[in-house]
Amino acid sequence: MSEQINAFEMAQQQFDHVAELLHLDPQVAEVLRWPMREYAFRIPVRMDDGTLQVFQGFRVQHNDARGPNKGGIRFHPNETFDTVRALAMWMTWKCAVADIPLGGGKGGIIVDPANLSTSEKERLCRGWVQNMWRNIGPRQDVPAPDVGTTPQMMGWMMDEYSKLSGEYTPGVFTGKPLGGGGSEGRTEATGYGVIYTIREAMKHLKMDPAQSWAAIQGFGNVAQYAAIGFTELLGGKVACVSYWDRFDKAAYTVSKKDGIDPRFLQSITDQYGAIDKDKARAAGYEIEDGDAWIGKDVDVLIPAALEGQINADSVQKISERVKIVAEGANGPTTPEADEVLKARGIFDIPDFLCNAGGVTVSYFESVQNDMNFYWSKDEVLAKLDDKMTSAFNAVLAMSEKEDVYMRDAAYMVAIGRVVKAMELRGWV
Ligand code: GLU
Repeated sequence: MSEQINAFEMAQQQFDHVAELLHLDPQVAEVLRWPMREYAFRIPVRMDDGTLQVFQGFRVQHNDARGPNKGGIRFHPNETFDTVRALAMWMTWKCAVADIPLGGGKGGIIVDPANLSTSEKERLCRGWVQNMWRNIGPRQDVPAPDVGTTPQMMGWMMDEYSKLSGEYTPGVFTGKPLGGGGSEGRTEATGYGVIYTIREAMKHLKMDPAQSWAAIQGFGNVAQYAAIGFTELLGGKVACVSYWDRFDKAAYTVSKKDGIDPRFLQSITDQYGAIDKDKARAAGYEIEDGDAWIGKDVDVLIPAALEGQINADSVQKISERVKIVAEGANGPTTPEADEVLKARGIFDIPDFLCNAGGVTVSYFESVQNDMNFYWSKDEVLAKLDDKMTSAFNAVLAMSEKEDVYMRDAAYMVAIGRVVKAMELRGWV
């Protein structure tokens, strides 16, 4: 994220604005402005060359009034306590808006996983669990993958927890690999969820998906399946994706005049989201500057990378044609940029609604783990579509009823549900 924006201040600012709109009791607001519990710890790891390296780990549990805390673990070199706090708070709103009975949490480690060998990654994952296992669990807090973490890592973490607790406990982590307690559809879930909300927004705006073009920022898990979904489920075209090239230490936009083929690009992308530029060029793709995605002449922008990407500067580059911004990432739009989108009448599908598909299938995964009975991919995706469609329509209805921007409406729905659970439990 860009240096000037503190994600947690941004999350609190968004919350304060809606707390005011809702005339929320200031004491109740004070409970929600801060995480309930926070953990910071050091993880010593024996590296393959025999040296010892110490990593900084975090877990933040924002609010569990509606159910166990839920949210991913990020492995990122720029991770901070404040980004984890913001992301944990957004998870509370995300689970509430998706209407799944879970609270909000987030974890992280300051590390670039691309610099670790497989066995170093495994030791680091197990080390995170050794620090946290007493404070997580299917009824307490259920972590999952996020930026920089993978299903395999969730498999190791689940195994470590099961060993320490003395009981096979698949439901303690979600996003596990298929065959290792994972759910069908979890890999596609976040990206497809983004697409289901875009489909609903297009119905509302009377746009024809098959005539639509999108530009996508990022090419990690969310962006890959958003691109596949945009072309295969909606029949639209994707002008470009972008990615961070860790070898060149630069971001690039990868575009094609008649639209990219996301499955081809996926086949030439490594596990950390870096696209093979030579192969892309050979197949007729153009490699442009990392910022080029935002200025494309398209109908839909899908920021699906990190926080703070649509900011006071970059928002000025958005083309006249853009009608929808679908926030696949968490916190991609800064409050200043948000004002510009609002003023221009761009229809924003806010992050914690737009990207709720991942945690929704995580919830389905833990339900299947509890039952020890697994659903087919079609069943999972149909249930996901139902949940995303009702969440979108609940937010749209609130936005129309109260005559507010979609982000504010999503906050109103989510905060209302969390406050109600706190009241029913006698907390406030
Ligand atoms: N990391 C994802 C998110 O930000 C998924 C969280 C989960 O599945 O618990 O929503």
